[in-house]
Amino acid sequence: MDRLVVDVPDFPEPGVVFKDITPLLADPEGFAAVVAALADAGRDADGTVVVDKVVGMEARGFILGAPAALALGVGFVPVRKAGKLPGDVHAVSYDLEYGQATLEVHCHAIAPGERVLLVDDVLATGGTVAATRDLVAACGAVTTGVAVLMELSFLPGRATIGAGGELDVTALS
Ligand code: IMP
Repeated sequence: MDRLVVDVPDFPEPGVVFKDITPLLADPEGFAAVVAALADAGRDADGTVVVDKVVGMEARGFILGAPAALALGVGFVPVRKAGKLPGDVHAVSYDLEYGQATLEVHCHAIAPGERVLLVDDVLATGGTVAATRDLVAACGAVTTGVAVLMELSFLPGRATIGAGGELDVTALS
């Protein structure tokens, strides 16, 4: 997979090394293998599906999460940036390096008590996952797993989201 994810220095701003997954998406075998591995995070050791919904975060979480949901036979729920969803929403704001961001989910997209797998491309500081987990909780549901393509292990993402305990984190690289 590593040859299909390209490090782009100084994007989107100086000092940041951006992980570009577009070569992976253009490779049908690599893309299929990644989706299958992400979907496995929603199964137990026997292969039984143990989640009720997959939630993907805008925007690359949509590309990876939607096919993972189909592979598991469960529904997909998009978490979007503020102002994009037409229905009633729960909203959570969180701090970025500079400023704040707000994520939203449709209130009725996830039923109380459902078990949710979050899917995204990169786990960096953990702010996006933590905010999304709060949105799932606002629906009365529980995030049981997080599956990402890549974890930036020099950042405290796992600590921020409280990995371990009841939250299972799968990083493919
Ligand atoms: P966090 O909130 O700091 O964990 O950042 C994770 C979010 O930022 C994810 O939704 C990623 O899509 C995005 N992100 C952070 N770093 C990168 C990167 O190097 N490449 C692509 N996306 C990134």
